Amino acid sequence: MKKKILYLFSDTGGGHRSAANAIINAVDHLHKAGYEQSMVDVFAECSGFLNVFAKLYAPVIKYYPQMWGQLYYWLDDEKKLETLEQMSRPFILEELTRLIKEREPDIIVSVHPMVNHLTATAIEKSGKKIPFIVVITDPVTLHRAWITPEVDLCIVATPQAREAALKYGMLEEKLKVIGMPIDPKFFLKDKEKQEARKKDHLKPKLFTILLMGGGEGAGKMYEIIEQMDKEKLKVQLIVIAGRNKSLETRLKGAAKKFRFPMRVFGFTDQVHELMAESDLIITKAGPGTIAEAMAMGLPIIITSWLPGQEEGNVEFVVRENVGRVSRDPERVVEIVKEMQEPAEFHKLLDNIRRVSRPQAAMEIAREIFSFI
Ligand code: UDP
Repeated sequence: MKKKILYLFSDTGGGHRSAANAIINAVDHLHKAGYEQSMVDVFAECSGFLNVFAKLYAPVIKYYPQMWGQLYYWLDDEKKLETLEQMSRPFILEELTRLIKEREPDIIVSVHPMVNHLTATAIEKSGKKIPFIVVITDPVTLHRAWITPEVDLCIVATPQAREAALKYGMLEEKLKVIGMPIDPKFFLKDKEKQEARKKDHLKPKLFTILLMGGGEGAGKMYEIIEQMDKEKLKVQLIVIAGRNKSLETRLKGAAKKFRFPMRVFGFTDQVHELMAESDLIITKAGPGTIAEAMAMGLPIIITSWLPGQEEGNVEFVVRENVGRVSRDPERVVEIVKEMQEPAEFHKLLDNIRRVSRPQAAMEIAREIFSFI
C-alpha cells in the first residue's frame, strides 16, 4: 500500500501553497509510484470562522502593510501566542483531529507558521503516532509562531534561520538547514532563454525584465514601468500581476502606451517559464519568489517588502549581493541600468550560484522518506 503524506498549509500569500507543491513534485519526481500525497488548507477546511481571518491577509498586506508589521511584532511573544492558540482551539482543534483520524496519514508536513502547535496537539489527541515535520518558509528571520519543539524535524533555509529557531526554543537535534523548497521545474530547465522568448512573442535577444509582486501582485509596478518608459530603457517586460486584477487590467489597457514590448499576465502557473525567459527580476521580497529567481539565475531588485516578515529577505539579498533594494521607482530604473553592465551582471550571477540551493525540495523529500 502507498504511504500517505499529508501537507498542511494556508493560502495566505502564494508562498505556502507553492512550498507544499514544490515538495509534492519533488517526491513525485524521485518516487512517483510510492506515495499518496494530499494538501489541506487547514483554516479553509477545518474552521470557517478562522478562515475569515486568513482571508484578511491579502487585503491587509495590500492596503495596510504597516498594520501587518505591527501585528507581526505584537504577536512575537510567547504569552500572546499561547492566548491566541487557546482562543482558536474551540474553533478548529476537533475538526483537525477528525481530519487526521479520517485521512490516516503516515506523516504530516506543515509549511505554515500558524498551524503547528494546533497540529501537534491534534496528533496527540488522535491517539496515533504520526511523524510531524515543519518546513519553515521564511528563509532568514522568522516568527516565533513557527516553532513547536514537539515536532520530529524542523527544516530551515539558512544558518540565520537556524539561529532564530534555536532562540525561540527549537531543539538543536531536530533542526536541519536545507534551503527553501522550490519546485523542481525551476531548475529542470529544458529550454534556452532565446527559444523560450519566441513562444511569448518577445524579441529573442532583447534584455528582458520580469516584474512581479508575489501571489497578490503587490508593489509599485505601474510607477516603475512608467519610469522605465520615461528613461527609454532598451528592454522588454514581462509583468505578473498575480491576483491583483486592477493592476492587470490597467497594464493591459496601457500596453500600447509604452515604447517597449510588454506581456502582462494575471495569476499564472507559468512563473518558471516566464523566469526562464527573463534576465532580471523586479519583485516584492517574497521568500518563494527570491528562491525561485535565484534558481533560475536572475539578479533581483527588491522594491517592496512586508514590515517584519520580509525584512530578513531584504537583508539577505543585500548581504549576499545577489541583488539590490530600492522603493523609489527612479532609483530602481538607475539600478537596472547599473546591473545591465556586463561586469556587474556577472558578479551578481556568480553570487547567485554560490548561495542558491535549487535542489532543496529534493533533499526535503528524502528527509520525509527517512521517516516512513
Ligand atoms: N506565483 C504564482 N503565480 C503568480 C504569482 C506568484 O505561481 O501569478 C507564485 C510564485 O512563483 C511563488 C509564490 O507564488 O512561488 C509567491 O510566494 P512568495 O513567498 O514570493 O510571496 P507571497 O505571495 O507568499 O507573499
